[in-house]
Amino acid sequence: MCSTQVESAPKTERLFFALWPSDAVRQALRRHCKALLRHSGGRPVAPENWHITLAFLGTVEATQRACAEQVAAGIHLPPFALRLDHVGHWARPQVLWIGASDTPDTLRSLADRLAQGSRDCGLALDKRPFVNHLTLKRKVDRPPAKLDIKPVDWAVTDFVLVRSRTLPEGVQYTVVNRWPLT
Ligand code: ATP
Ligand code: MG
Repeated sequence: MCSTQVESAPKTERLFFALWPSDAVRQALRRHCKALLRHSGGRPVAPENWHITLAFLGTVEATQRACAEQVAAGIHLPPFALRLDHVGHWARPQVLWIGASDTPDTLRSLADRLAQGSRDCGLALDKRPFVNHLTLKRKVDRPPAKLDIKPVDWAVTDFVLVRSRTLPEGVQYTVVNRWPLT
């Protein structure tokens, strides 16, 4: 009898930490951004995919994921209020986004701690500083004429770890873990 053992490569996932809007916040965003979304061209991000990235981990092995999850579990920060009141356009990546013109200190701390902790787990994160933003559309080559919207108030009570998969029909995000802010 003969058997062949094939060494399988370690299983990896594409992961990022994010703020994940509740259904109510998603609906408010849809309502308040209706005109903006209608008149700005480009390719809309599906509303169920809307999020604010806190730290993008990239391709991660199981042990690195466990390490990053320990970092997340060790963060003790209070809930905070986020007012999405600012529409922005980045010309180079051609992204239309909405964000909070005032970044709460707690949000900055959360993003910084996740990034630093994940680096300590051996992950190579982007060095660019955190900019709070929720991407509404891609491939928007010029800013829309009218950039003002009615602000959306979001009571942030938790943060999540998301798995990103690229499927033929588009990107699919799955929330794989969640930590409360208390
Ligand atoms: P696709 O890459 O298929 O167009 P996507 O950009 O939405 O879709 P991901 O590339 O998995 O999906 O990115 C997930 C989130 O992390 C997005 O909000 C994306 O903007 C952000 N992101 C991706 N790469 C980086 C990076 N190097 N630094 C910071 N954030 C990133
Ligand atoms: Mg991407």
